[in-house]
Amino acid sequence: MVICCAAANCSNRQGKALRGAVSFHRFPLKDSKRLIQWLKAVQRDNWTPTKYSFLCSEHFTKDSFSRRLEDQHRLLKPTAVPTIFRSSQLCQLHPFLEPGRRYCFHKIMSP
Ligand SMILES: [Zn+2]
Repeated sequence: MVICCAAANCSNRQGKALRGAVSFHRFPLKDSKRLIQWLKAVQRDNWTPTKYSFLCSEHFTKDSFSRRLEDQHRLLKPTAVPTIFRSSQLCQLHPFLEPGRRYCFHKIMSP
């Protein structure tokens, strides 16, 4: 299974080129309080995360992570909430969507 980032304006997916640079983190499905914070941050309409939904590390500040001592593996702190999302200037009517963008997230178009 290819892991893709669930953020609307993010096209990061797990692959060789990104190995080490970007990590992917599951939604906190069992922690409803934090899940709500994550969903607010992601701002996707009519969308429910599953256990196969991931956000990439680009949406978290550096201090959201800790390093496992043994192998320096990047771990997301259990309190971390994503905060970094590009607010796209593009809209669905925009003819020049950048390659790799699944769709844009024009604020004006949402109710
Ligand atoms: Zn992402």
